[in-house]
Amino acid sequence: MATPMQYLFENTLAFARQLDREDELRPFRDEFILPQKADGTPKIYFCGNSLGLQPKAAARYVGEEMQRWASLAVEGHFEGNPSWFHYQHTMKDATARLVGALPHEVVIMNTLTVNLHLMLVSFYRPTAQRYKIIMEAGAFPSDQYAVESQVKFHGFDPAAAIVEIAPRQGESTLRTEDIEQTIREHADSLALVMFGGIHYYTGQAFELGRIAAAAKQAGAMVGFDLAHAAGNVPLRLHEWGADFAVWCTYKYLNSGPGGTSGVFVHERHANSPDLPRFAGWWGYREETRFLMQKGFQPMYGADGWQLSCGQILPFAAHRASLEIFDRAGMDKLRQKSMKLTAFLAYLLQQINEQAGEESVRIITPADPRHRGCQLSLIIAKDGKKTFQKLIEAGVVCDWREPDVIRVAPAPLYNTFEEVWQFTSILAKIITSDTVPAQAI
Ligand SMILES: *Cc1c(COP(=O)(O)O)cnc(C)c1O
Repeated sequence: MATPMQYLFENTLAFARQLDREDELRPFRDEFILPQKADGTPKIYFCGNSLGLQPKAAARYVGEEMQRWASLAVEGHFEGNPSWFHYQHTMKDATARLVGALPHEVVIMNTLTVNLHLMLVSFYRPTAQRYKIIMEAGAFPSDQYAVESQVKFHGFDPAAAIVEIAPRQGESTLRTEDIEQTIREHADSLALVMFGGIHYYTGQAFELGRIAAAAKQAGAMVGFDLAHAAGNVPLRLHEWGADFAVWCTYKYLNSGPGGTSGVFVHERHANSPDLPRFAGWWGYREETRFLMQKGFQPMYGADGWQLSCGQILPFAAHRASLEIFDRAGMDKLRQKSMKLTAFLAYLLQQINEQAGEESVRIITPADPRHRGCQLSLIIAKDGKKTFQKLIEAGVVCDWREPDVIRVAPAPLYNTFEEVWQFTSILAKIITSDTVPAQAI
């Protein structure tokens, strides 16, 4: 990971605007549709960690496929460039660059939780000796339910089989050495380490390379849910040696509500026809797929886990977004993101200094290497009311029970000025409970 920069910031609007002028990624903002307030000015959209904004190109990409459906109908499967049959392949290189994989290690299909189940079918193979799964405590509920139901499906007791790692007393985030220690402690009975890339609640970015190494040393499989990491932080899945990873595309990857999902399967499993898997015709060897023969023969690599023919409309929206990520480059996005979020952290600290007390607590790690775009804030007084006033003032952020406001400036479309405007709105809400939202 990049070494953390020391930034010299100033708490003025002019300074924020200067940072925007110096930002070489600034033109990408114009490639997105920004939600607007009633007066026609853009809202401050800090919710790309939940649903990324719509790239202007997405409607064109989807429209082209609608047109092809209209004009070619069934012939669209094999006519046009790319044909629907080959559509999958057009997303591979950009996806591989995004997550640090080889092209044949990635496939785009289904939705996230579905893919998590498919991966668990192949890579959680509990035995009487090795049956445990280690994961972070308080993982996103869908991951908890998926893991719990898989454990039960294999006839094991979730209470005994799932080992959750929680922060130490008085701390909000996990220490990597505690994760490594837990993996060592359970090494003899461990089947799988299944970790999120970035925690949805705290915003902590886990050290996936170290976690993967510890899991491998313990002789266990290792998989990652990168829902909050893909398109947010640089990833090196192949090099880290994860067995599998899954992610959705509608958060930082801006591919639309209910968008498709990505899967990584390490090259070491690329040619494993005997690995248990739930199969479907689209995972069958492409050259002979339409011979419709009996006896499943998987495609090489991650493609062999496909079930159904490609979901062309969600794929088209995703392609539009992938193309933007490829042009911007994950390294440059990360550089801007670290600066944007550091500026946000600095300005929040200024609120506390001016108030002479900790009115805003950031539970996300302070070290930029251990976080992505998002900061998770706990407001000392009236958190929920503060959140509602932010929404009324035209800020889009979200509230996560029990007590966190999540704010995630995205480097593709957010500006330093927006970060400054956001903190000045927040400061006014905090310092004056009596100011009605409209006056801000
Ligand atoms: C957003 C998110 C999900 C959502 O799963 P879907 O199947 O796409 O609805 C699951 N897991 C994590 C960690 C998430 O952040």
